[in-house]
Amino acid sequence: MTNTTTDDGKVRAFDPDVLRQRYAAERDKRLRTDTLDQYVRLSDVGLHSGDDSYTPMAAREALPDHVTFTFIGAGFSGLIAGARLREQGVDTIRLVDKAGDVGGCWYWNRYPGIMCDTATVAYLPLLYETNYIPKEKYAHGPEIREHCQRIARTFDLYKDALFHTQVTGLEWDEAHHRWIVSTDRGDRFTSTYIGMGPGPLNHPKIPRIDGLADFQGHIFHTSRWDYDYTGGDSETTPYRSGTGAGVNFPAAPMAKLRDKRVAILGTGATSLQATPALARDAGELFVFQRTPSTVGPRNNGPFEEAWKGDPADPQWQAKLLEVFAEVSSAPFGKPSPDELVDPVNDGFTAPAKWMRAAIRSIPDEELSPQTIGAALEAADFEKMEEIRARVDAVITDPVVAEQLKPWYRLFCKRPGFHDEYLPAFNQPNVHLIDTAGKGVERIGEHGPVVAGVEYPVDCIIFASGFEYGTPLVKRLGAEIVGSDGVTLAEHWEQGMRTLKGMFIHNFPNMFLVQFSQASFFGPSATIAWDDAARTIASVVAQAAGKGSTRVEATAKAEEDWVEMILQFGVPMVFDTSCTPGYYNLEGKIPNRHDILEWGGYPHGPDAYFKLMAAWRKAADFSELAMD
Ligand code: NDP
Repeated sequence: MTNTTTDDGKVRAFDPDVLRQRYAAERDKRLRTDTLDQYVRLSDVGLHSGDDSYTPMAAREALPDHVTFTFIGAGFSGLIAGARLREQGVDTIRLVDKAGDVGGCWYWNRYPGIMCDTATVAYLPLLYETNYIPKEKYAHGPEIREHCQRIARTFDLYKDALFHTQVTGLEWDEAHHRWIVSTDRGDRFTSTYIGMGPGPLNHPKIPRIDGLADFQGHIFHTSRWDYDYTGGDSETTPYRSGTGAGVNFPAAPMAKLRDKRVAILGTGATSLQATPALARDAGELFVFQRTPSTVGPRNNGPFEEAWKGDPADPQWQAKLLEVFAEVSSAPFGKPSPDELVDPVNDGFTAPAKWMRAAIRSIPDEELSPQTIGAALEAADFEKMEEIRARVDAVITDPVVAEQLKPWYRLFCKRPGFHDEYLPAFNQPNVHLIDTAGKGVERIGEHGPVVAGVEYPVDCIIFASGFEYGTPLVKRLGAEIVGSDGVTLAEHWEQGMRTLKGMFIHNFPNMFLVQFSQASFFGPSATIAWDDAARTIASVVAQAAGKGSTRVEATAKAEEDWVEMILQFGVPMVFDTSCTPGYYNLEGKIPNRHDILEWGGYPHGPDAYFKLMAAWRKAADFSELAMD
């Protein structure tokens, strides 16, 4: 037996072997043969993810013009790329997005209680450049969306933007060294460069469940919240800090739910935030759970209590993020002996701290993958015991408490944080329907069915996440034809191929902004986007300086990069001892394609960022052919 002292000062004893067996049994319950195929897109079940209730679609003429840079996606990746290109003096920058404004996932996701789990200082980019000091340690959705708009205004990115527009085709014009861009609004314009930032939360998904069409009530996905149906709105989330009932909910109640029976299906990061608001406003709430999330403390607070953002120091955020990147890369190797002070101190950096301590506890001469693995496992058991103890401390009904306890290692699933989620289950109008790892088996005429019992409800809200493990080329959507007339889908027939996750041979003047074959599993998505944006701006500036109009990854450079990704083999995300989830492709045994799609730079995100910074600094871009 091993003892651990939890946050409340109590000593809990656990047996590592028993935990290992329990974790394996819980995983086995959830393993399924259809892995990624268990989900479909909203459009496959007659729900339309493109419908935009937030911004009316404006009529406009189709465009036949030319721009220097087109970025597909006006979320953070496009905004930061636009900002960095503008800093380099690029004149025409066109963001294109199917949404009605900038923001990407923060445009679409407006569910009640939406906030970011990554600390604001590490998540909101360009704070100095936009002269903005955020309000809270963890920002709510409306503040993040406003910041996206602030970036667009500051860098004049609205001027050439196209909203409610989907790029349907990209074709390289070798004679003129430019891309021909076609859209669903009839545009056919040209662009010297193309950037693509599809984002990991681009396509909402829904379980492939029988009976959906028979359901008599209302259905929507959390990323397309139907405030017409629920009442309330997402704009009134109070900027109040601290803990306690209602702190993180929109001020306007969803009054139309007061007499309704509501089901929310899914208990991931989204549900953790939406459930407390629903518990406050719905007549009866049924939470359908397949796997409990870990629910760590949120402890929100005013931004300036955590960081003194100095609007006069251009480097204040950059300096802090430099240390942050190093701190959060601890799991990738033995850290330097000097204790690093974590300047961000959020729910994601805290694990890096205890992981680092675990590795450091091993004498140098005993360091090996085995000893590191054992130390990390032991530390993880302790952390998970703390998380389970928190459930016991909050939940009054012991049966419900047992059902809410997660039995897997912390990073098998995305860690969750909330101070009002667990207490919601003590309310008499909130019912946890645990599906014992099986999920809702079908939807009846009146509601979800679990273990043969139908739960009648007026409305089902799918908090079932986003398409994550499908091939990137499918998620990009457009047909992309490169310099040799070959499509990107054909070029990637044997698996995704890039140089540094960003450049593709035979697809000149094109930049990918995403994680695969790059900084996979980094500490904050926007840090990765900013790194990519700096690379894009440097390459474009370098090409302009040389009078080059065509920039392309050489075949050899791409080949070497792909080989390196393959050589390092199965990345840690495919931990088959984990309970299934999108982190391990729902338990799928990875093939070559999966490794290439889900492998990152083998030495971790911080090493990747350092490599890219050195590459930019050297500015010879030797692996790129510039004509
Ligand atoms: P997730 O994919 O994390 O969660 C989907 C949920 O649906 C899971 O609980 C899953 O269960 C459940 N589910 C799937 N099929 C069924 C079924 N048939 N019956 C019952 N339950 C089912 O989606 P989220 O939208 O919660 O989060 C997606 C990602 O979005 C996050 O991981 C994060 O990256 C981002 N996000 C970030 C936030 C932030 O920073 N605050 C907030 C919200 C989201 P199971 O676990 O068993 O698969």
